[in-house]
Amino acid sequence: MIGPKQERGVYIHVPFCQQACSYCNFYFVTGQRDHTDFITAAIREIKESSEFFGEDRIIHSIYFGGGTPSRLTLKELESILNQVHSTFTVSTDAEITLEANPEDITKDIVNAWFNLGVNRISLGIQSFNDKLLALMRRAHDGKEALHAASIIKQSSFRNFSFDLIIGQIHQDLEMLNQDLRYLESFKPPHLSTYLLTVEEKTHLHKEIQRKRLPDVADRTQEEHYLHLMKWAQEWKYTHYETSSFTLDGYHARHNANYWNHSPYLGIGPSAHSFDGKKRYWNSRNLNEYIASATASRKEECLSRIDFINEKIMLGLRQSKGIVIDHLGLSEIERRALDKSLQAVNPLHIEYDSRNIRLSNEGKLYADGIASTLFL
Ligand code: SF4
Repeated sequence: MIGPKQERGVYIHVPFCQQACSYCNFYFVTGQRDHTDFITAAIREIKESSEFFGEDRIIHSIYFGGGTPSRLTLKELESILNQVHSTFTVSTDAEITLEANPEDITKDIVNAWFNLGVNRISLGIQSFNDKLLALMRRAHDGKEALHAASIIKQSSFRNFSFDLIIGQIHQDLEMLNQDLRYLESFKPPHLSTYLLTVEEKTHLHKEIQRKRLPDVADRTQEEHYLHLMKWAQEWKYTHYETSSFTLDGYHARHNANYWNHSPYLGIGPSAHSFDGKKRYWNSRNLNEYIASATASRKEECLSRIDFINEKIMLGLRQSKGIVIDHLGLSEIERRALDKSLQAVNPLHIEYDSRNIRLSNEGKLYADGIASTLFL
């Protein structure tokens, strides 16, 4: 099922965080922890996954995500990276990304990451505003965000991305504009911007349930997202995926693999993998993962309809949209899709006999529109 021209990526989930951010539902553990057992388990899992991509072991991207990968020591990071290099053939132009948080950034560590072979940093800024950062329970403040952004901007890294969260509770348009003005001064080659979502079991969800905080306002989210799109256009960013903006040549290769249904191997607790046919996911429990990554791994075989629906969802998230021919629909399915298209607000979607794309306004409702189009 893996096509010869498809790129392949390896994702490593590093589950350690300084503290729990109020909105986060990723898998992570907090506090001062010894990383040794995790590193040993991750290295073992990489070794045991040597056949994951079949005979051809070439990979095109490595992504350290989390959690907070910047909490690993240089030696720990190096040992994982070395194992990836000795298990797979890492293509010479591979994208190697490290997610980092502002509180971990120093000139020395950024240089050391670069010398280790990391060639892209994704910095979790989220906002430069102290009040919003405190509400999000981030470990950094605005000053640290600015300091970290300056260090990365002045470093040897040409390829870096900043994360921003918009449509936040108590965030008004002036606050968003202030964040955007800071971005203008750094001009990151890539931006990942997320509308704040309230996930169950998070601190934020509880605070809203207890009426200590208001819920996120749909109008604020719409206003912020549309404002951001306008700003990005003025600043020459291409909006190539619902949450992703890039200057020329800085598309996130690893993430594009997910969106294009390319195979990827996920290492670490809660990490997901996809081999072209099946999806696998590791235990969301560090101790279980350490005991045996492969024994705790679950799997699911995707049906043809699952594949089509995923293609619809992933296609809609991208500016190139859905190429209808690539869905491989039967005549009956094609007629069903045409009927579903008529149920979508015409202001939210643009389509002809070959492609389906979301309008700018439609991008706000990508998930809902995708489920309307599902077979
Ligand atoms: S640092 Fe990232 S992964 Fe960790 S709790 Fe905060 S948002 Fe979640």
